[in-house]
Amino acid sequence: MKYVEKRVKKEIRRQVNLLSGDIIGVAVSGGKDSMVTLYLLHRILGERRDIEIQCITVDEGIDGYRPESIEIVKKFCADLGIKYNQASFAEMFGVTMDEAAPVSGDSSPCTYCGVFRRNAMNDAARKMGATYLATGLNLDDTAQSIMMNFTRGDVERLIRLGPHKRIQPGLIPRIQPLRMVPEKESLLYAIAAGIPYHDGTCPYSDEALRNQFRNVIDELETRSPGTRHSIISSYDQMLPMLTAASKPAKLKKCACGEPTIGEQCKACELRGVLSERVKGP
Ligand code: SF4
Repeated sequence: MKYVEKRVKKEIRRQVNLLSGDIIGVAVSGGKDSMVTLYLLHRILGERRDIEIQCITVDEGIDGYRPESIEIVKKFCADLGIKYNQASFAEMFGVTMDEAAPVSGDSSPCTYCGVFRRNAMNDAARKMGATYLATGLNLDDTAQSIMMNFTRGDVERLIRLGPHKRIQPGLIPRIQPLRMVPEKESLLYAIAAGIPYHDGTCPYSDEALRNQFRNVIDELETRSPGTRHSIISSYDQMLPMLTAASKPAKLKKCACGEPTIGEQCKACELRGVLSERVKGP
């Protein structure tokens, strides 16, 4: 447990220079990684009275999955004395994932869910005045995200993966305290520390492209231990060059209030597509 805590403290110091008055919104789904992130931030920074930690949970509208985890998060926040905030797809986008999934067409439901969730978390963080948004991405998730964007050739998104050094108006910079903690160690830490978490599986997760990358990287890690660290280390060495070579896109404001490169943000574009499909011809 001390080893995990030491690495998380080091990562926080490496990623961010926290100042008096900072508010950290922590995106918490109720799964082990986000619960460990909330717990550790509270444990490490809890004594700093000049920094506030708040929880943000997004309700995607997935029956039999999300309601249970929301109850676990709410109770944990009450036990730790952390303010709980909730955003919901139904309220923000007028559609739940249970309505969106059957009409997601050639795309995986996760494509819609990921875009909506990023938008909902940023919106909630901005509204509560957060200066940083912490996510529970662990070492495995980070290596997968790097490889997914790399193989897709999505350099723009590769640069934006975070943790964010470049501050852009309207976008709350993300920090990833568990970035160097392997998934299995995060699980062990949750068990050892007695942190409650929801271990249900989203009914749409089978369709996630991420699963294929998880399998490939797990296989590589088994054959050559240290692969995940190498992927992240290569990325960290390349990032300053990629950032220097790309001009930051000039952001406009979408009608919904979110920053966007075009006239309309991706979430509003997808919401339009879905509402047509949900309504039918
Ligand atoms: S598995 Fe996909 S649909 Fe389910 S919560 Fe995650 S991103 Fe959303």
